[in-house]
Amino acid sequence: MKVVVIGGVAAGPKTASRIRRLCDNADVTVVEKGEFLSYAGCGLPYYISGMVEDQKELMATPVGTVRDSVFFRNVKDVHVMNHTEATAIDRDNKKVAIRTEGGEAQELDYDKLVLATGAESFIPPIPGVELQNIFNLKDIHDADAIKDKLAKHKALNAVIVGGGLIGVEVAEAFQEMGCRITLVEYLPNILPMMDPEMSTLVEEHFESHGVRIKTGTKVTEFSGKDGLVEKVVTDQGEIPADIVIMAVGVRPATKLAAESGLEIGPTRAIAVDDRMQTSDPDIFAAGDCAEKTHLITGKPCYVPLGSTANKEGRVAANSICDIDDSFPGVLGSAICKIFNFSVGRTGLGEKEARDAGYDVVIAHAPAPDKPHFIPSAKPLFLKLIADRKTRKLLGVQATGPGVVDRRIDIAAVALTAGMSVDQMAQLDLSYAPPFSPAMDNILAALNILRNKMDGHMEGVTPAEVVEMHEKGDDFTLLDVRTPGELEQMRIEGATHIPLGAVRKRMGELDKSKPVVAFCKISLRGYEAALILKQDGFTDVKVMDGGVLMWPGELVR
Ligand code: FAD
Repeated sequence: MKVVVIGGVAAGPKTASRIRRLCDNADVTVVEKGEFLSYAGCGLPYYISGMVEDQKELMATPVGTVRDSVFFRNVKDVHVMNHTEATAIDRDNKKVAIRTEGGEAQELDYDKLVLATGAESFIPPIPGVELQNIFNLKDIHDADAIKDKLAKHKALNAVIVGGGLIGVEVAEAFQEMGCRITLVEYLPNILPMMDPEMSTLVEEHFESHGVRIKTGTKVTEFSGKDGLVEKVVTDQGEIPADIVIMAVGVRPATKLAAESGLEIGPTRAIAVDDRMQTSDPDIFAAGDCAEKTHLITGKPCYVPLGSTANKEGRVAANSICDIDDSFPGVLGSAICKIFNFSVGRTGLGEKEARDAGYDVVIAHAPAPDKPHFIPSAKPLFLKLIADRKTRKLLGVQATGPGVVDRRIDIAAVALTAGMSVDQMAQLDLSYAPPFSPAMDNILAALNILRNKMDGHMEGVTPAEVVEMHEKGDDFTLLDVRTPGELEQMRIEGATHIPLGAVRKRMGELDKSKPVVAFCKISLRGYEAALILKQDGFTDVKVMDGGVLMWPGELVR
């Protein structure tokens, strides 16, 4: 069996090596137009910051062997043609036209073909985008060019255009390199994978590290002198720039597939089934070029990630070798590190869930990630999204200096299993104080959801409370924290009665007015709301997430 694999970074080498392992009679060739093979693109920001010192580390096995074409020939028995581009697919005659860097054209026969052509950086047609010192970050050559520029000059004015995963990781790397950084994002918040109030926390964290965040800002031009960029012109003013990184997203590389008549899906990626088979039974696609199915909505989606590329490569290999396997889809799970914060999400965000027609209920649970008596305890901001009708969890987001990955991964497992919030809230998670609270943060958040769904608690988001203030609504915003906490920070205009005094002093409150109770994280706010309800207050809500999620000014 002759197998040709186009693309040599993540999905391609994974598919090729596994086919060769499984199938004695397979003759496997990988065609890669670039120089480098099987490298960790995800490690590029850490290579730029210097945490990864040598680019070879990104291409090496755990024992330090570099995965080059000799490695693939000797160890994997896979023939790799790098510096070679696949230019066309002749599906009728099962041939791939290739051209080497020297210009030599050839044809390769195949019985099975795998497209692992990945994604390409999107370059918007902004005037001046061709100026020098404007870079993308897609591969090792891009990273080398950026490193080269950073090495030659100190304290550069760096502008990062785009606040997605790559943009924020580059911002941190540039900070390590001593640059003055402005991150420009067209949308109202950075990290569109997160809900706005979660992104706001990350923006504040960036600002606290000296990174200027300009959201809701459109780049209109790059201007420069002698071919070198000097400033980024936006609809909100000009920003001096010695170096610019364009990080406004990627597009699936589908030219070969489209030109050969393969079906392209609604997300503009190559349509595949759960065996990674394209509309041609002898052609498979895996990784960033292939469309995914969202496990919750069941709809096509495009989430290009290395984690997924590897899984899909394995399934494509199994399918080609007639092993029963399938890749059902993704939850859009993603995580990144920004200075002391981790930021992660899985499943649907609140807006996505509403747009998909769910009866959405949310819980905010900001709390220390370990008991307060453990010195390493750190704040963790959790948000859960569920469907009131089916009581199914839909999504989880987390950020803060606390441990994010444990909570996101627990949620990813539960979402995959389709668990209800009630089943999930009883999960037998491991516990000892150095690791988590006795009731893990995610279990506590699930119980908030259950309280809301069971009618024990009615929540209102801090953003909604701000809106109520702005509209001039007549309501009591009740702060039930201790006097000591109040001294540290308070919300202007809130009425203060500590929880322990609520029963005695509730006569001070006007029963005819709606009450919104809160504390630091709104656990005590919830208790206060129950006390008031038991005493005949009819309209009592709890402010989700408490003062820690307050988006407005705090009096300190
Ligand atoms: P690619 O890596 O895009 O490789 C495709 C290859 O195909 C390319 O080398 C290209 O040259 C080659 N090719 C294309 N067309 C042809 C042709 N016609 N002929 C020959 N060769 C061709 N993912 C995560 O999961 N977590 C992370 O933390 C993360 N961080 C990232 C950080 C950065 C800076 C970047 C750039 C990416 C990051 N990713 C991350 C994404 C991850 O790197 C990609 O999802 C993964 O590399 C996709 O692998 P792939 O094999 O599908 O495609």
